Amino acid sequence: MARSMRAARFYGPGIDIKVEEIPYPTPGPGDAIVRLAACGICGSDVHFLEGMPVPGGVPFTLGHEPAGIVETVGDGVRAWKAGDRVAIHLGSGCGVCRPCTSGHPNCCPALIAPGLHIDGAFAEAIRVPVGSLVRVPDGVSLVAAAIATDCVASPYHALKCRARLRAGERVAVLGCGGLGLQAVSLARVLGAEQVVAVDVSAVALERAARAGASACVDVSGTDPAAAIRAVIADGADVVIECVGAPETVAAGVRALVPGGRLVVVGVGMMPPAIDLPQAIFALQELSVLGSFGSHQADLEEILALEAAGTIDIEASISHRLRLEQVGEGLEMLRTRRGDPQRIVVEIAAP
Ligand SMILES: [Zn+2]
Ligand SMILES: [Zn+2]
Repeated sequence: MARSMRAARFYGPGIDIKVEEIPYPTPGPGDAIVRLAACGICGSDVHFLEGMPVPGGVPFTLGHEPAGIVETVGDGVRAWKAGDRVAIHLGSGCGVCRPCTSGHPNCCPALIAPGLHIDGAFAEAIRVPVGSLVRVPDGVSLVAAAIATDCVASPYHALKCRARLRAGERVAVLGCGGLGLQAVSLARVLGAEQVVAVDVSAVALERAARAGASACVDVSGTDPAAAIRAVIADGADVVIECVGAPETVAAGVRALVPGGRLVVVGVGMMPPAIDLPQAIFALQELSVLGSFGSHQADLEEILALEAAGTIDIEASISHRLRLEQVGEGLEMLRTRRGDPQRIVVEIAAP
């Protein structure tokens, strides 16, 4: 009988996730089969539950924050072998298009991302092109490596590659969920002098204080830009927007000092309403930038920071679930029940 595996399958909004037996993946040329150890649950998984179409269609296996151990490799693969500990990066671009050759492979129109375009990692094993594998250093757990792939590498990319944060600058983070909290601690690691954490949840702000925020402001019913300026009078050099709402994008612009950069990390579908005279962008040399995912080099640097003990990714995990609990975990994240920070699914060998 053909080999099979367990996978948590998504059939569409409003339909319960079902853990089913599906055919075990086999590697094509240039692929690896990775036996999965862990996969984080991300806010963007919740968008699919709420109706955003899955690029790969349904039924589908979600999960784009994985790590595990290489089991087999396909023809032509020499750099990887069975037993290698790997994190799976969010996607490998085609390598030849303009975005790929101009330093934006994460924006390749032909991006192949597990959990978005090809079956993801809420399963016992996954088939991926070896171009998306990143080696996990000794001493870094596979659970930490899983969370690193998106939740940590994405805000790192936003701060380092997009905002080009310099030591001594002042940063504000709008929205302190999974990614935002990492942005707070990474801004500190990159030398920010002040980090203002902004949220509407007391629990999130307590966590932000522990993550190294120099000020935590609850903006329930108040203007986030005014709240940031109450702490940083001139305005912030860098604002990281992790909410994905029109109001927070606008507030981010209004919170900037001349020369400041707003980096939009949040993914929202509404048009942003920036209620400011256009001249402000010219007169104050303001920049509005987007940031999506990360580069493999970002993930490698994050794993090195974890190996060196500079950051502590496991401390950000609030809940550990089993594969059978993927649906429950997604629902927890959607409703914020139990105040999840990062939920990780640990995938046990059968
Ligand atoms: Zn994600
Ligand atoms: Zn490309």
